[in-house]
Amino acid sequence: MPLQLRVARCMVLFSVLLFSHLPFPVIFVVGRDGTRWPTKPFSDLFIESIYMAKITFHGAARTVTGSKYLLEVGNTSILVDCGMFQGPKKLRQKNWEPTPFDAKSLDAVVLTHAHLDHTGFLPRVVKQGFEGKVYCSPATAELAKLIMFDSAKIQEYDAKYANKKGFSKHSPALPLYDSQDVEDTIKQLFETPRGKWFCPAEPIWMRYHDAGHLLGSNMIEVEIRDQDPPLRLLFSGDVGRYDGPLYHDPAPPPECDYLICESTYGNRDHPEVDLLDALEKVVSRSVRRGGVMLMASFAIGRAQQLIYLLQVLKKENRIPDLPIYLDSPMACKATGIYKAHTEDHDLSEGELDAEHPVLNGPRVHLCRSTDESKALNQVKGPAVIISSSGMMTGGRIVHHLKKRLPNPENTVVLGGYMAYGTRGRRIQEGADTIRMHGMEIPVRAAVETVSGLSGHADRSDLLRWLKPIPNPRQVFLTHGEPDSAEALAEELKTTRDWNVHVPDLGETHELT
Ligand SMILES: [Zn+2]
Repeated sequence: MPLQLRVARCMVLFSVLLFSHLPFPVIFVVGRDGTRWPTKPFSDLFIESIYMAKITFHGAARTVTGSKYLLEVGNTSILVDCGMFQGPKKLRQKNWEPTPFDAKSLDAVVLTHAHLDHTGFLPRVVKQGFEGKVYCSPATAELAKLIMFDSAKIQEYDAKYANKKGFSKHSPALPLYDSQDVEDTIKQLFETPRGKWFCPAEPIWMRYHDAGHLLGSNMIEVEIRDQDPPLRLLFSGDVGRYDGPLYHDPAPPPECDYLICESTYGNRDHPEVDLLDALEKVVSRSVRRGGVMLMASFAIGRAQQLIYLLQVLKKENRIPDLPIYLDSPMACKATGIYKAHTEDHDLSEGELDAEHPVLNGPRVHLCRSTDESKALNQVKGPAVIISSSGMMTGGRIVHHLKKRLPNPENTVVLGGYMAYGTRGRRIQEGADTIRMHGMEIPVRAAVETVSGLSGHADRSDLLRWLKPIPNPRQVFLTHGEPDSAEALAEELKTTRDWNVHVPDLGETHELT
């Protein structure tokens, strides 16, 4: 570039910088009606463009996993949830793509709850240089540790297994993060109680409210306090159910200008069945078949709920006193955390009795070691094995499936919603064979689904929860597959006249 041109460019740049910092406007565009633009000093416009709040949907956009919402105000950036993508390979591969924000420049991460699709990417972000605090409820901190360590272990195991068997396309296959990364991550967890305002980074203030979805689960009320009145946001997190077993009802939502709401069950209601009746029928049919009843369960929440319900059925003599094997070290530890955080659930220790305690008992066997897990291959029915992962994508249940699926005497029980692309979904949809560890395993076992176990609000629950919110400027529906999210969007547009949008992955919106 010629020298004169360089000098001219420098002068223009210098002038723009100088004028933009003056407290009064020096350049105007005068409209036909005589109005002048800009009507504000350049300095104000400059500052507004810097401090404009915006949100970017880096996960759980038109899908149910990978929750990550980046909230930015000026140079402040806070990530709400840091979940892992799960389900089909195409989604899981997103965990391996370059992270779409600079982990080092994040001021804080704030978690709604401990589930892997809300916390499972956190060690990866720490590995990439995030050093700030991770705000979460006390129970979420305890559960998130378990979930992240378990996730690291599953990934380490899968990578090792793939390398041993040579069926990975990558050589060597690597875990997304390992146990050391999780050790580093848990040092950053910062326990934060419900109901009190906290400031992860100015000007963003937040307050937790009970979401009733999992032990320690919260929705997040946000105030951006660089303006008067503050700009108000509400992140629903995962909304729980009304009158469900185990958890409190979701707290009433505070008023907000912008609502970021989940839509997992936006287009359907849970069947109106009595959960105990439904489970009794499934167990009775399994006992008649004579084999083992293998229950796929999330280690946290679902497993405790299942043991509790089975203990109730036993106490009421509605099912035989079957042995129950809880084959998940994480579920065994989580059971202890449930006992410690009684403020977070409806169970009281005295709800059952000494012979049928709430979460354990003489016929409830906790299998922690690998040897104890392997020994379950010898177990003959009738018996119940509860194992994870809940959607059968990994964990010890994969080995149990290999052993139990080919025998028609056995029963495989799926709890609630199975995400698209998971083994659980394929089994639910009646697949003849399931691919595991490079082998096709025939599905001859009976397959049953117990739907009422979901910890998610259904369509009616969501509408009931949303009812007290007067009129937000904008609603973003996330954490739902496209059909669910679009159906709920249509409903809210029609019945509430709300401005509703279902964002795509990576979409950014300014919050004004
Ligand atoms: Zn959840």
